[in-house]
Amino acid sequence: MWKRLLLIRGAELAALALLAAIPLMVDNSYVLGLLTLLAIYGILLIGLDVTVGYLGQVNLAQAAFLGLGAYAAGLCVANFDFGMLAALAAALVVGLIFGTLLAFPALRLEGPQFALATLSFSALSATTLNEWEGLTLGAQGLQVSRPPFLGMALDAPEFFWLCLLLLALVWMAMRNLLSSQWGRAFEALRDSPIATDAMGVGTYRHKVAGFALASGLGGLAGGLYAFNFQYLQPQSFGWDLMVILLLGVVLGGRKSLWGALVGASLIALLPNLLSNRGLFQIFSAIGLLIALAAGGQGLLKKTTRPFQALAPVAAMGILMVGSLIVENTEDWRKAIFALMLFSVVVGLPEGLMGFAARFLTRLFHIEPPRLPAPASLDTVLPKRTANGGALLELRGLERYFGGVKAVDGVSMTVQAGEIHGLIGPNGSGKSTAVNVISGLYVPTGGDMLLRGKLLPVGSLFKVARTGVARTFQNLQLFGELSALDNVMVALKDVYRSPLPLVLLGLARAEEKRARAAALALLELVGLGDQARSLAKDLTYGDQRFLEIARALARKPELLILDEPAAGLAHPDVNKLMGIIKRIHERGISIILIEHHMDVISELCGVVTVLDGGKIIAAGTAEQVKRDPKVIEAYLGVADDPAGAAAPAQAG
Ligand code: ADP
Ligand code: MG
Repeated sequence: MWKRLLLIRGAELAALALLAAIPLMVDNSYVLGLLTLLAIYGILLIGLDVTVGYLGQVNLAQAAFLGLGAYAAGLCVANFDFGMLAALAAALVVGLIFGTLLAFPALRLEGPQFALATLSFSALSATTLNEWEGLTLGAQGLQVSRPPFLGMALDAPEFFWLCLLLLALVWMAMRNLLSSQWGRAFEALRDSPIATDAMGVGTYRHKVAGFALASGLGGLAGGLYAFNFQYLQPQSFGWDLMVILLLGVVLGGRKSLWGALVGASLIALLPNLLSNRGLFQIFSAIGLLIALAAGGQGLLKKTTRPFQALAPVAAMGILMVGSLIVENTEDWRKAIFALMLFSVVVGLPEGLMGFAARFLTRLFHIEPPRLPAPASLDTVLPKRTANGGALLELRGLERYFGGVKAVDGVSMTVQAGEIHGLIGPNGSGKSTAVNVISGLYVPTGGDMLLRGKLLPVGSLFKVARTGVARTFQNLQLFGELSALDNVMVALKDVYRSPLPLVLLGLARAEEKRARAAALALLELVGLGDQARSLAKDLTYGDQRFLEIARALARKPELLILDEPAAGLAHPDVNKLMGIIKRIHERGISIILIEHHMDVISELCGVVTVLDGGKIIAAGTAEQVKRDPKVIEAYLGVADDPAGAAAPAQAG
């Protein structure tokens, strides 16, 4: 525990102290220029990593935000005589505002469309900076003077220390933020936006906040950039820089502050590497060695396919040979970036730092921080006294898809404290009903009431906040998060610290409480010893149990389980029944969609049977099993699963 803290914090401090000390040891303006650029790019890439790494969006606008911040700072100094701090604050705010403005419409988009939206924004901002000559002097360029910092004029080393100080502050604030509920929410919405909303976290607001933050850091870096070069031209913030920035993030390693720093050093050094043949040859040789080491390790451990290992080696080999033949490496710039990007994306998807981190963790035997003792279940999931009465009421609920009446006038009541079975052949509308209740789909007609009050319609997020929690028939876990984090994301009423406190690292107490609470829920479903495993690495059965634990983190009044036993082996089905009983004992009402009739018989007091979107029977399990309509419905289905209601199997 202490060793880990010492090593990690120690490495951060040592790197910072080393960087800060270099200007004292080497009196060289060229080196100082590189270091300053490194600090500025560091801030820029930490921002870019929030969108590319955490939010998982291809963001092509970060160079544009650098430009907007740079011009904002420069123009504030030129026109309004701002001091350094005020001008930097202005650059940050301009980044935040434009980032938010772009995020609102663009973030409703996914994948390639989002990338195109950010690309359009870049084009728009570059053209505006270029053509609005009255303000920016256009292509002629804008001379910027370096304003005083709190009344003092800064010389080159002092300005570098200011950049480094800001990098350190951004580093600390972002480390605190990204290791808090905010960081988890960013990653959760990357892996499953639907589940993020269904867990009451709010996909959209977190996406906008993350993007605005990234853009704000881009603007801040722009302000420093302006005062470093003291001359701005619109074309500096164009397409070329954007590609290099993406290369920096991917090469350094996504989701890592160290990765951003390594990426920043590389892209600060790249132009110089390319202009010096000897250096470039050494660089290519190192690249080839890394490709060989990473590829070899992957092949030995069988984590990579031969192509994945060989392609980067080939690419780096070409680079190595090229560096020996080609005279004018600078002319080959784009080809060289392309080869590097290709090698990294294929051979080192977790980047240099991801690769190094695994190696260092083993070298120093760094253990993950110890987990706290689980909280008591009574505090995490207080026992509800079942006071009876109608909990959920559906009145004539309808949902059509074109001509398909998936749910066709369903009226049913779930009493508080019961386990209500919902069965029916495949395609009878069970999942659609759940999707309408939970807010994923808007109903075509009908009413839904929870404790007599109308349930919000068409919003997973709002329904989640009313006390209804659900799992998904097709699992919707946050695959890249640990089992513990999956549950922690969803925890209700735990994260109360306002953003400034989180940034300052003053929200640790609630993090600790959250961890203990999440552990208690993991233990409830038998996953206590898997807390650290990534969700995607769990067995299929454990993934189903994890979804249940995650839904319980909402402290639900009503829990809807959509075929939790689907695909489970027999021992896991038994385990599942135990879990459902334990949940029910805590006074939580449950709607259970299930195919196995024996499970339904054992657990459910009341059963509703759907067929073709309509209710065809309701009653106890014994009653519906004997109902001729039910038998007929199941007989009509070819892929009737074993153990379903039908006494005879269809052919
Ligand atoms: P169940 O969960 O009972 O197996 P579903 O609710 O998944 O059934 O499906 C009911 C019917 O609605 C099926 O005919 C299915 O094809 C249709 N359906 C479900 N979801 C959609 C959708 N998103 N778009 C179009 N049709 C859908
Ligand atoms: Mg279904």
